[in-house]
Amino acid sequence: MLKLIRKSDRTLPIICCDVCGTWIDDAALGAAVFASLSSEGDTNEARLTHKGACHDKAEAELRGKGHNVGWLELKDFLSNMLHNSGVSLDVLKQMHADHEKFGRL
Ligand SMILES: [Zn+2]
Repeated sequence: MLKLIRKSDRTLPIICCDVCGTWIDDAALGAAVFASLSSEGDTNEARLTHKGACHDKAEAELRGKGHNVGWLELKDFLSNMLHNSGVSLDVLKQMHADHEKFGRL
């Protein structure tokens, strides 16, 4: 789930796990888990989770409802999402430079 956190007089977006609710602070350690899509134009929600136990629980819940399950590494999901939202590499580079002034949370 997408959340906001107030830190050092700034309001900042973070991704929290849809299973345990805690912050996923490293995209390499997260996953986007979803019921597989089969028909052109189908859409579905993705559950953003930590890898490991949270990922396993999300998959089990979907399988329990009779779904086939797919997943992506969270960093790949985010990269594809930005690309499909029209955010160019140049924009990302500028955003990264702007954010580096403040450092990471
Ligand atoms: Zn979790």
